[in-house]
Amino acid sequence: MNIFKITILASLIHFLYYNNTMKNVKYKLFSEEPVQIGPESGYDNYIMAIESSCDETACAIVENGRKVISNVVASQIKTHAQFGGVIPEIAAREHMDSINIVIEEALKQAKENANLEPHDITAFAGTVGPGLVGCLLVGLNAAKTLALTYDKPFIGVNHLNAHLCGNYLDTDLKPPFMALLVSGGHTQIIDVKSYSEQTILGETIDDAVGEAYDKVARLIGLPYPGGPKLDKLAQEGNPFAYKLPESKVDGYNFSFSGLKTAVLRLVKSFGGKDIPVNDICASFQETVSSTLLHKLKKALKQSGYKQVVIAGGVAANSEIRKKIFALENEGYKVFAPPMKYCTDNAAMVASCAYFNTNTFDDIDTEVFSRVKN
Ligand code: ADP
Ligand code: MG
Repeated sequence: MNIFKITILASLIHFLYYNNTMKNVKYKLFSEEPVQIGPESGYDNYIMAIESSCDETACAIVENGRKVISNVVASQIKTHAQFGGVIPEIAAREHMDSINIVIEEALKQAKENANLEPHDITAFAGTVGPGLVGCLLVGLNAAKTLALTYDKPFIGVNHLNAHLCGNYLDTDLKPPFMALLVSGGHTQIIDVKSYSEQTILGETIDDAVGEAYDKVARLIGLPYPGGPKLDKLAQEGNPFAYKLPESKVDGYNFSFSGLKTAVLRLVKSFGGKDIPVNDICASFQETVSSTLLHKLKKALKQSGYKQVVIAGGVAANSEIRKKIFALENEGYKVFAPPMKYCTDNAAMVASCAYFNTNTFDDIDTEVFSRVKN
């Protein structure tokens, strides 16, 4: 090819890209045909996704990033409860036992609900990380195998981006918005400028909120997973019974380990007798939810955004929801996924594969345990 032809080709690619016509193009795995994915594709996309990053094996099919056609989740909570936490090796083995069952069930529901067959699926997606490596491998390899089998594109998804996308399911939410991501492993304030442009403004420097909930729950003797149980007891207690320390970390970052230690000291001060569990839970919950709200409000004011989103397993928390939904009285529009899309599920992964262009589409993509930017 001479230099003239190369210049014309380069200009054409540049033109197509910047006019968004080539945005989010994926390739079928065998035939290598290009497939445009996402809101600009001009046709209905059906994405089948698999999630297996921790202790839920899940498969879902979602139409155009928002309409859930099927959503199947097999939870391992009962298995891990006896150990007081997730045991990675056991979790990976349970994923192996459940993966085919959830895939078959998702396909069955898609047939019943929308008359969809596997060859109608536009692309197959899977969670790449962060998560437990042995667990991720099971779901990711299943997604890759399906993509190869049906000659469709494979889309690898970041689990944290997927949690945010849980808010697109069954709603008409569009960026920009400010997001608070609170889960067992992460606590972040994220500026979501567009579907694929996100900036992490702050995060925890030690324990994640969910982790703090689970640890505090354990030290007052609640069974795993302690977060939801602590939330229930907190609703019966006095949130102002004990003054616990709010973290003094700069900017939009968080720290919860000091608070956890303060609760430990408080519990010990009762010498094992007549511990006012409900009041301690309520005071802990009040401190956590106020800290989150203060930082989120600061970020909202700074950005000028009028929309706010909460995501992640801890977004199921009653007091955190209450405080953030109260922002509606100050003129903000608040989005929070229903409980089934807060905790780990595959519908949010499918939505992310549709909307977010920052995906890991190479079939050789490997799983990762920690956040990858
Ligand atoms: P991850 O993906 O990081 O493992 P998830 O998004 O699955 O986390 O959320 C699980 C976490 O959410 C657990 O730490 C659990 O205790 C916490 N959680 C769930 N429901 C509540 C609740 N109502 N209040 C507080 N924490 C909760
Ligand atoms: Mg999660």
